[in-house]
Amino acid sequence: MSRHRIVRAMDYNDEYDNYDDVYGHSVDDDSCISPTDAQQWLYDRARGQHSMSAFIKNNKDIQEEEEMSEEVVTHEKDRRDSDNFQLPVLNDVDQAKLTSCIDEVRNVVGDQVSERRVVETCINFDYDITKILDDILNNECDSKTKQHKPISEIRTSKKLSVQPTSSVAPKLITPDRETISSVQAPPTIKVTAQPLSERDIRRGFEVNSPQVQSSPVVSGRNTPVDEEVNKSISAVKISKEQAQRDARKLYSQERGDQKAHFHMIVIGHVDAGKSTLMGHLLFDTGNVSQRVMHKHEQESKKMGKQSFMYAWVLDETGEERSRGITMDVGYSRIETDTKIVTLLDAPGHKDFIPNMISGATQADVALLVVDASRGEFEAGFEQGGQTREHALLVRSLGVNQLGVVINKLDMVNWSKDRFDEIVGKLKTFLRQAGFKESDVTFIPCSGLSGENLAKPAVDPALKAWYKGSHLLHVIDNFKLPVRSIDRPFRMSVSDIYKGTGSGFCISGRIETGVLSVNDRVLVGASREQAQVKGIQIDELSQTNAFAGDQVSVTLSGVDMSTLSVGCIICDPQNPIPVTTRFQARILVFNVTVPITIGYPVLLHHQCLIEPAVLSKLQAQLHKSTGEIIKKKPRVLGNNSCALVELETTRPICIERYADFKELGRFMLRVGGVTIAAGMVTKVR
Ligand code: GDP
Repeated sequence: MSRHRIVRAMDYNDEYDNYDDVYGHSVDDDSCISPTDAQQWLYDRARGQHSMSAFIKNNKDIQEEEEMSEEVVTHEKDRRDSDNFQLPVLNDVDQAKLTSCIDEVRNVVGDQVSERRVVETCINFDYDITKILDDILNNECDSKTKQHKPISEIRTSKKLSVQPTSSVAPKLITPDRETISSVQAPPTIKVTAQPLSERDIRRGFEVNSPQVQSSPVVSGRNTPVDEEVNKSISAVKISKEQAQRDARKLYSQERGDQKAHFHMIVIGHVDAGKSTLMGHLLFDTGNVSQRVMHKHEQESKKMGKQSFMYAWVLDETGEERSRGITMDVGYSRIETDTKIVTLLDAPGHKDFIPNMISGATQADVALLVVDASRGEFEAGFEQGGQTREHALLVRSLGVNQLGVVINKLDMVNWSKDRFDEIVGKLKTFLRQAGFKESDVTFIPCSGLSGENLAKPAVDPALKAWYKGSHLLHVIDNFKLPVRSIDRPFRMSVSDIYKGTGSGFCISGRIETGVLSVNDRVLVGASREQAQVKGIQIDELSQTNAFAGDQVSVTLSGVDMSTLSVGCIICDPQNPIPVTTRFQARILVFNVTVPITIGYPVLLHHQCLIEPAVLSKLQAQLHKSTGEIIKKKPRVLGNNSCALVELETTRPICIERYADFKELGRFMLRVGGVTIAAGMVTKVR
């Protein structure tokens, strides 16, 4: 019988099938040594073996026990040390801290280190897990890991897995042993500290690649593309028009006289009032008719949720309405004096962050909505709240202009003090997150009453102290993002579906370049060739689409199953690198257990969510200067910046940040929390 039966799940009837005589039976075990067999080996005074020396003399062939190997001796010593060790007497709080610290340490180092060593280190470092692991990994494990089991292997054997929280996340893959063992070789990279010029100073998220080249025109050039791929790429026959297209000229011909268009994502903690604010703004700008608004009012009244009538303009599904939360990213458009803005209303609830991330990858600017009422702002801003998480996410995904709506100010009687208090807290945080002060505007509003949304403030309590712009004016004044039209074509796929005609459709954002009907493109990591049969923007057919456009594309010549959400479609002349291993600079901001080699994560790159492991920790860098603080660190804690290597199980399309900003950024998440943001510095 196996030792590891799952007793709780056991059906006792099955266990005793065909085994009637359950009670009172005894078990014959053939492998047992019978008493007679065993007797010859036993020392027995009764048989005249009066002295031990006589016994030894008569039993010459007694085998000497083999000497214990060095490894066994050390292990044995550790075990005895642990057996003899008595846990110190601690108060309840310290006892709890100690137990959880020991668990975390054991998760990483297994039972290689003695109990005494672990406990003493925990107490000496006041239960600071980063310091504890750093100390143990640097000193204790150093000598052992050289000969014995590597830390990453122990970590995987403990089955540390990543928990995606949304249905959007792909199936979990715990990094297998093969992947990990390839990771175990000590990093051989030589990183030397460079003298820094003022120009090299980087702050917060501006973690540019150290090898930024002045004008890298084409991607993939820095990455060796293998022979097979080269052959398949050269086999792609593209038309003369596609090969010699003048993108800028085409753009000014087609769009020269149109209003500028950009995408704006609305982010913030759940219930901050994002949907209400956007719904009201759409209504005030004439994008929702009186009739539709009246219908929403009646329906919401019927359900006893009248306060949600504006939110219903954006929250379209029944479940969103009944639960009163936004789950998917909603799209709608407003027109200001000079611009057309596509609004992306992102879900605030933390379970839907993957949806929010794919929304943020499409955004050029962001509107951060915070609830000004007492206690609510604090709940959203503290650890676990989505205000910080969203702001960090959009910044690391490349959004650098931010409008901050201090919403529901009607609930605190338009208090200037409360407004100033919130602005003070957010300013410090946003500066640290990498937003320039000149790119952030704070606007006091009420999404419900419509105060200061599309018209200047009228409430005397607000007018008394606020002389700034209303929300629509702030949106109209956002600087236009640069469209990378004359770069090689890249598009990230956010949805795949069967269209009405032949072929199938993909939708997503064109990151760089131009796409025209009849173009040939390469699809995802497989680099299969497809042809563009049709392009649609806002359900209208187009001949050309440009960087920054959100499009639906009909493809033919390739099987639908070749594509997956998150893959990249690219120009066959200048294809995107495909890899399973790349080097990156990461900024760690939210880990409970520090990062060590073999740390499993979910890599979020554009719309792609892919399991990965941190296979090498090459250097810890100074957060602001980028200078190397420590080579080959053993652990990376919160607020650390580092040069690391990441490995994915399946090949992915990724670019160096220096070549394509849009495709060289990523996020790392674990258990539903974003733990780090990164930029690709080298594709292996
Ligand atoms: P979301 O989860 O951020 O989209 O928040 P909703 O737009 O669904 O709003 C959540 C709740 O806050 C709803 O009951 C709204 O009526 C309420 N609300 C939104 N904006 C305001 C506001 O400016 N003032 C007041 N008093 N309540 C608001």
